[in-house]
Amino acid sequence: MQWETVIGLEVHVQLATASKLFSSARNQFGDTPNSNACAIDLGFPGTLPVVNKEAVRMAAKLGLALNAEVAPISHFDRKNYFYPDLPKGYQVTQAERPIFSGGIVEFEVNGVENQIKLHHAHLEEDAGKSIHGITPGFSGIDLNRAGTPLLEIVTEPDFRTAEQASAFLKKLHTLVQYLEISDGNMAEGSLRCDANVSVRPVGQKEFGTRTEIKNLNSFRFIEQAIEYEVARHIHVLESGGQLVQETRLYDPDKNETRSMRSKEDANDYRYFPEPDLLPVIVEQALIDELKATMPELDNQKKKRYVNELGLSDYDASLLTTDVAIAHYFEAVLATAGNDQAKAAANWIQTELLGGLKKRELKLSKNPDETPVKPVQLANLIKQINEDVISNKIGKGIFDTLMDSPREEDNAVDLIIDEKGLRQNSNTDELKGFVDEVINANQNQVEAYLAAPVEKRQKMTGFFIGQLMKKTQGKANPKVLNQLLAEKLQSLEG
Ligand code: ADP
Ligand code: MG
Repeated sequence: MQWETVIGLEVHVQLATASKLFSSARNQFGDTPNSNACAIDLGFPGTLPVVNKEAVRMAAKLGLALNAEVAPISHFDRKNYFYPDLPKGYQVTQAERPIFSGGIVEFEVNGVENQIKLHHAHLEEDAGKSIHGITPGFSGIDLNRAGTPLLEIVTEPDFRTAEQASAFLKKLHTLVQYLEISDGNMAEGSLRCDANVSVRPVGQKEFGTRTEIKNLNSFRFIEQAIEYEVARHIHVLESGGQLVQETRLYDPDKNETRSMRSKEDANDYRYFPEPDLLPVIVEQALIDELKATMPELDNQKKKRYVNELGLSDYDASLLTTDVAIAHYFEAVLATAGNDQAKAAANWIQTELLGGLKKRELKLSKNPDETPVKPVQLANLIKQINEDVISNKIGKGIFDTLMDSPREEDNAVDLIIDEKGLRQNSNTDELKGFVDEVINANQNQVEAYLAAPVEKRQKMTGFFIGQLMKKTQGKANPKVLNQLLAEKLQSLEG
């Protein structure tokens, strides 16, 4: 039997507001446990929550970026359940009227355009966190996360492969950072995903029984978990078994999913409207403002880089997927000029990103906090273009700055002078070196002159190597090649 996979995702985006969804407690990861939880987050009697305007703005911003319909009026509900990390016994969420509905996410998989429809997105608060293993025999509860604003994005069951699902998540990861609504840090849980998976015989219209895999927090895990789950479904069905709708957990160490609990029905949660909160009103003025101030997003940037800067699709993708890279690139061009786009792209891809990776560093959000500042890279490119230094020396200077960053905008010029790296283009001096090298290597000269033309190109490399050694790599390669060619020509019988 041929099976078709059906996947729908529920993605939780932790919004990067300063304070929590309903209180003024700090929304900050990694602080001392229970230092950022207040009576409102814990629903103490006598407290009243107030919606964080910034969270609403952020949600609306994403909705507009995805062409969704932002609700003029949405409201909050209580979802009741008991769990140690939820001391108030209910989670405040939007069950009936979410902040936005519909919308489409477009992204590429292996060069093919994909479109996934969203069902809706709702605002909700996060719960706290159980911590095991600090005190033997006890579990701790950290309520810093309680009340943290989440936007849960629910897709239609439009995915057909695990690869599409992870590409979708990558796209959202890119978007939330462009929109500055989340840091998108998956390791810290700022972007996490539940995957609903089912299979059906190819050609069948009805969906099969689905299972939900909870809390996938890496692009790789989401793919692996779905692939495992699809294989499990097919195996159960083909051996005559029946699937149960349930929630499962993925264990990355064993690369398998395990049953966690049978799926609750919505009515198990006794949803009812949250009586302590007013409806959320999004006025047209806010929509207009958000539209007017919408930043240039990755797709638009990519198009512009191809059409206006003449970059390849590949380069443009690489520079725009991560907004920090795009900002760095644009800052380099601000000094270097748009005609240096290709050079800047090359330097960023190989030297900057490669160099950061080698040093286990991450690209900062602020381009000027990069070990090599954009203005410094622009200057480096200029000095190479003007033959002041060779490309090779340039790479050395870049590495020097990566290891010991400097504040001065003209740090490259300073290093060139301090280390005496200026390229030698002095024809007379270089001519002298060429003569010396030729005289000192008569055997190689004879071999060269005796060799057929097609072999000679390679043989000149030896002489250039000797000359570079003599000049500590500072000879202008163009001038040097020219002088050597003339010299060898003159020795021809
Ligand atoms: P619930 O009310 O149980 O949360 P929803 O109808 O809200 O269920 O769907 C949750 C997610 O599951 C959505 O992303 C949806 O696209 C997806 N989904 C629904 N049915 C299936 C199915 N048969 N196979 C795969 N995904 C599904
Ligand atoms: Mg749901």
